[in-house]
Amino acid sequence: MSGEAGTSPAEVRFQGLGVSPGLGRGRVLVLRQEEQTAPDYTVSERDLPAEIARFESALLLTRAQILDMQAKIADAIGAKDASIFDAHLLVVEDRTLIDEVLRTLERDRRNIEVVFQQVADRYSKLLSQMDDPYLAERAMDIHDVTRRVLMNLAGRHGPNLSEIDYPHVLLAHNLTPSDTASLNRQHVLGFATDLGSRTSHTAIMARSLNIPALVGLHDASAKIETGAEVLLDGYHGLLVLNPSEQTLREYEEMDRRKERVEAGLVSLRETASTTRDGHHLILSANIELPEDLPMVKTSGAEGVGLYRTEFFYLNKSALPDEEEQYTNYREVASALLPHPIIIRTLDLGGDKSFGSLNLPYELNPFLGCRAIRFCLQHPDIFKVQLRAILRASALGNVRMMYPLISGLEEIRQADVLLEECKAELRAGSHAFNEQMEVGIMIEVPSAALCAADLAREVDFFSIGTNDLIQYSMAVDRVNDRIAHLYEPTHPAILRLIKMVVDAGHDAGIWTGVCGEMASEVSLTPLLLGLGVDELSAGAAQVPRVKRAVQSLDMQACRRLADTVLKMHSPAAILAECEALARDCYPELLG
Ligand code: PEP
Ligand code: MG
Repeated sequence: MSGEAGTSPAEVRFQGLGVSPGLGRGRVLVLRQEEQTAPDYTVSERDLPAEIARFESALLLTRAQILDMQAKIADAIGAKDASIFDAHLLVVEDRTLIDEVLRTLERDRRNIEVVFQQVADRYSKLLSQMDDPYLAERAMDIHDVTRRVLMNLAGRHGPNLSEIDYPHVLLAHNLTPSDTASLNRQHVLGFATDLGSRTSHTAIMARSLNIPALVGLHDASAKIETGAEVLLDGYHGLLVLNPSEQTLREYEEMDRRKERVEAGLVSLRETASTTRDGHHLILSANIELPEDLPMVKTSGAEGVGLYRTEFFYLNKSALPDEEEQYTNYREVASALLPHPIIIRTLDLGGDKSFGSLNLPYELNPFLGCRAIRFCLQHPDIFKVQLRAILRASALGNVRMMYPLISGLEEIRQADVLLEECKAELRAGSHAFNEQMEVGIMIEVPSAALCAADLAREVDFFSIGTNDLIQYSMAVDRVNDRIAHLYEPTHPAILRLIKMVVDAGHDAGIWTGVCGEMASEVSLTPLLLGLGVDELSAGAAQVPRVKRAVQSLDMQACRRLADTVLKMHSPAAILAECEALARDCYPELLG
């Protein structure tokens, strides 16, 4: 589609993956992965020493960064692998190259960025033209180091997103969960990224913040300039550059339709999440930040099924101490009374790093020292949180769960620390609920397969489908290139969920789902049919899920589950689920 010829720039559409519903229209602000072009100016003779000094400090800083990176890699995977950075160090210490830069600077009197880039490019071109794989690799080293030196010359340390104080649609190559947490909700109309997938924590944050968002645009950030007019469609994962009048009209109409549906959902707040034939499903909300609490209350959720406490740690320079955490958990838990809150213990690692801990570099962070593994290796940090949660349990309806449990031993080790904390609190005369329920997240296939054993040791299960899918099918949940392989309706996932629910029921405990599958109204009939007792969805999605539950018949859901458990194709299973959903609540789909 294009705009009126000769008057407005042509419309261009970029297709990604919608991860947070809603529309955002305005000027785009682009954050690129690649650095902007280096400045280009003449340098007077008088300014030459200052230019040389800038160059020297950029080289020193680059050297320090390389050494730091090398040390982290040596810690994580051994000195041998870290030695690849020796070649990078050689570049910043290469006298021939540095002398040539200084000579060129004196001769051409251009700023150091231009001169350095010119000389470094010439070196790497010469090397790459030689028919020798070793030298070709050295060319890559020069290229990498040049980028780093140029970044340091520009003094770039990444943007401070919270300081952008005008309305904009943010387009970035990538955003980390902590970038997302620091977005200024007042001014961000929506955001889009080249990388990412539906269950990345960045996407989950966007839904929780209620910011329209899409991911997986591959290279849009390289093709769109800051200041251009865009329309972001978080429902369908579309970014429209220079939207035409016709497109804008179509979207206004869609917006009105969506608003009518949303307005209809408001009245559900005080109603129960019960199917037409009287089956009650507990419907809770997930929260990422304490600020999400008001939305939980207006959503009509029966409490919080997952409080991702690690977001409380992001963008902080130090770990929160026991008092700080206690105050936070107590406030959130008391605000929700009489409803329960399930506080998940720290799930650091994977795509959530914490700067001030300076953790060793890991090649496979999602398979690394994440969540309960990190906590068991750092009992000092873990016990601070356990004590804070226990103390909050005296004043609220608090439950707690451990993430990323892979087997019995981890539960037992965590429980030993929990018992130590209880003893410490008793000794210090701190009140806590002796009967506080403790559950586990089922998100590792080994835990799902051993659910019958684990069920005897805990009070409840909460299935983390985001990770369960990633680990069962070996599909990195944040990699946009394989996002099409991330299939919640894969027969393996259905069977694992069924196995966990049945094992839980046999042992007399309940099972919830708190991964993003719980927010997908097309999958509500399937999860009900599989016997799940609780769904914990993003607060913004709760009213939609409630409407879905109220429109369904439990008998039909069970029949659906029986049918699809015998099927083999994820797409066909999804189609069956959608067909039932469309019959019962067409207004919530598409
Ligand atoms: C999950 O894995 O499904 C889950 C709820 O936890 P998180 O998304 O925080 O990893
Ligand atoms: Mg998880």
